[in-house]
Amino acid sequence: MTAPCSWLWLLSQIAAVVSHVCRLNVFFLFVDMARGQQKIQSQQKNAKKQAEQKKKQGHDQKAAAKAALIYTCTVCRTQMPDPKTFKQHFESKHPKTPLPPELADVQA
Ligand SMILES: [Zn+2]
Repeated sequence: MTAPCSWLWLLSQIAAVVSHVCRLNVFFLFVDMARGQQKIQSQQKNAKKQAEQKKKQGHDQKAAAKAALIYTCTVCRTQMPDPKTFKQHFESKHPKTPLPPELADVQA
């Protein structure tokens, strides 16, 4: 009765190895899933970051455009980058013309 016993033992060993491998496979499957999830999360994070950067850049561009918003002299159409320059220009070039109301508060 040794032969069936050793067969059983061999079978149980094989079963043990198979179940071990299966568990390993399941483990790696979970690792893969976790990695995939992480990848997706990092991709989402990156996309969000890029969107924010784009938004920020767009905002910066808008701000820059606003900052570069040229003040156009109402009399001679000369363009100036800031109200201070505009006022100085207005006072020196067109002293006879009354200051536009938006320049009244500007400290030259
Ligand atoms: Zn002018």
